[in-house]
Amino acid sequence: MPIYEYRCASCDHVFEEIQRFSDPDPEVCPSCGAPQVSRKISANSFQLKGGGWYAQDYSGSSSTSSNPSGGGGGEG
Ligand SMILES: [Zn+2]
Repeated sequence: MPIYEYRCASCDHVFEEIQRFSDPDPEVCPSCGAPQVSRKISANSFQLKGGGWYAQDYSGSSSTSSNPSGGGGGEG
């Protein structure tokens, strides 16, 4: 479910609204009630799934040791 961020141009109140496929934009600001809300793009919501377009350095210049996060089992 995509969540868009809106910002009120009156009180600078930022709020998140869950917009569906065909949902109208918020009419007024939930804080002050001003009908001046603009949707702003939030890079946080947008997540690339199944990506793989990362540009990796083919030419082995430097090797960095990347260890897997976490480790060790925990029982209980
Ligand atoms: Zn407002």
